[in-house]
Amino acid sequence: MQADAQANYSLSRRAKQRFVIQWFALLLALGVLGAAIAFNLLQDHRQTGARERDRLSTQARIIALNMEQQLATANRALEALLGDLSVWRDAFDRQTHIEYIRAIATAMPGIRSMGIIDADGILVASNHVGVLGMDFSHRNYFQTAKWQANGETLYISSPYQSIFGSDVINIARAALGPQGEFQGIVFATLNSDYFRTLMGSVLYAPDMWDAVVHSDGSMFLRVPNSDQPARNVAQPGTFFTRHVESGKATTVLTGTPQQGTDNKQIVAQHTIDPAELHMDKALVISTGRTLDTVFLTWTHRVLLQSGLFLIISLVTVLGLYAYQRREREFDRKEAHASAALRASEENHRLIVENTRDVVIKLDSGGAYTYVNPAFEQMFNENLGSMAGKLQGQHVVPEDRQQADAFFESLFHPPYAATVSLRENTADGLRHLHWTAHALLDDHGHVSSLIYIGRDVTQHVTRMTLLEEQAWRDPLTGLANRRHFMDMAEAEIIRAQRYERPLSLLTLDLDHFKSINDTHGHQAGDLVLQEFAAIVTSIVRDVDIVGRTGGEEFAILLPETDIDAALGVSHRLHEAIRSNEVILRSGASLRFTCSMGLAFLDEVTVALNDLFEQADKALYQAKHSGRDRTCVAEQVPAVRGGG
Ligand code: GH3
Ligand code: MG
Ligand code: MG
Repeated sequence: MQADAQANYSLSRRAKQRFVIQWFALLLALGVLGAAIAFNLLQDHRQTGARERDRLSTQARIIALNMEQQLATANRALEALLGDLSVWRDAFDRQTHIEYIRAIATAMPGIRSMGIIDADGILVASNHVGVLGMDFSHRNYFQTAKWQANGETLYISSPYQSIFGSDVINIARAALGPQGEFQGIVFATLNSDYFRTLMGSVLYAPDMWDAVVHSDGSMFLRVPNSDQPARNVAQPGTFFTRHVESGKATTVLTGTPQQGTDNKQIVAQHTIDPAELHMDKALVISTGRTLDTVFLTWTHRVLLQSGLFLIISLVTVLGLYAYQRREREFDRKEAHASAALRASEENHRLIVENTRDVVIKLDSGGAYTYVNPAFEQMFNENLGSMAGKLQGQHVVPEDRQQADAFFESLFHPPYAATVSLRENTADGLRHLHWTAHALLDDHGHVSSLIYIGRDVTQHVTRMTLLEEQAWRDPLTGLANRRHFMDMAEAEIIRAQRYERPLSLLTLDLDHFKSINDTHGHQAGDLVLQEFAAIVTSIVRDVDIVGRTGGEEFAILLPETDIDAALGVSHRLHEAIRSNEVILRSGASLRFTCSMGLAFLDEVTVALNDLFEQADKALYQAKHSGRDRTCVAEQVPAVRGGG
């Protein structure tokens, strides 16, 4: 049966649907959570990028502003020198002016050298006196200024290595004569060491770098120093080129700054080209950081959050899986249990329907809610015909009260009882032995009652017979000697207690031996039976008649004094005398009997005494001729003064 249940078990459609919905809901929730995390991270990415672009361009502007100021200051110093050029030409007091240049150069930390070169390219004044007189006509900055010879323009040279070994940019102004003829240049060299310090001071992250690039693409300086040799960045597609081509003062670009490298960067660039300086070439400030580092924190956050998301997903998915597994297990067990229950119920049903015992179920009001086939057969009824009827329907009227009391008793602990009732069945009167118990609900109230009844008619009949045999004389149907004595004893005690009169007659058939001898033992028996019938018909119900010996009898007469008792004995004699016994042979016979009468007084307290007195009187009756009654002699003193 277990194996059957297992084989037949499959998850119910409702349970399957529930499981699918649970999965759907979980995946939906995880989807929403994942989307929220992704959206958040995306926002974060955008913000991080925007913030970085902002900061980098700010730093680029700060450097640019500082450099602009340096250039403007240097330009003013050069202009001052230009104003004095007449003096220089005359060269009266060159040494004084060299001191002047040196003072200016020293005062301006961004300036390394300052000086004047004449139209032939000869250095005529400088803060570095050791190089005075040297020919610088080959230098690009000299050539550019010489050939363009524009008095307003601030010539910005490409970076180059000075004779002192340091990287410099030369800024120069052309000195023009009254007719615009070229007379030489005044120049200053920007000190890369000074700017290195400035540019180092704005770096706010270890991976950050900044650089100053000449508009021709050559690097003036880069902080920190690049590992790679400086190369011209004015290549097609480089961030530098894109910045210059954009024409904007500030750009921020993200990606690979130069082709051939895979180092992705975010780079802000700012062009230094203030209108008032009339620079022939611009300078570009770049600040940059590597993308990976900028987004390092963000990347960590992505890893952390996606890790968390994965863990949550895993835990919830496994959790739901385990939950559903347990549910399924539970369902299966329940299915097994209910299959087992069904099997057990089926067994019980079979038992109840096939037993010969009557099984009924009643509600708490006593109405029938179930009757088994044995009931239907015994009473020729069914549940339909029992509808509206209450318990005890078939009980004989004499037992009805007992049936009701039995029903009531089931409503109290121990909620179970037994009773034997006589019932009218389809088969006639039957004795049913009922065993019943109450079923209690959760509140301890009786909800229904189960009655199981067994037909014990045969048993009762047998028992009744046995009981009768114990006290009844089988031949005459009268009480036997022992039973008579028991009853007589009780009557005497009662009569004494209430001081009521009581008489005892003992009887003995006359010449019975000869009846036997003459007509046979069977005839004797017949005489005995007829005698018993006569006695029974004459005495009252309350009188007790017993067969005390073979053909000896006794009659106890309660509430009967001696006179009344004599009256009874008289009627008995009359009846017996007038009775004719017809034998089987057809012959008839008559018989008589003798009686002794004794009555209760205060001396004869014991039954045996009373019997003794009556027997004495009977003996007298026999000896004084039979067929008569003699009264026992009582002790005069005790007869109450009568
Ligand atoms: P008496 O008038 O003196 O009483 O004479 P009797 O013949 O009746 O004498 P007794 O009382 O001694 O005899 C009793 C006889 O009754 C003896 C016995 O065989 C007979 N008897 C006793 N019990 C039964 C019985 O159940 N059936 C029959 N048929 N006879 C019985
Ligand atoms: Mg006798
Ligand atoms: Mg006799």
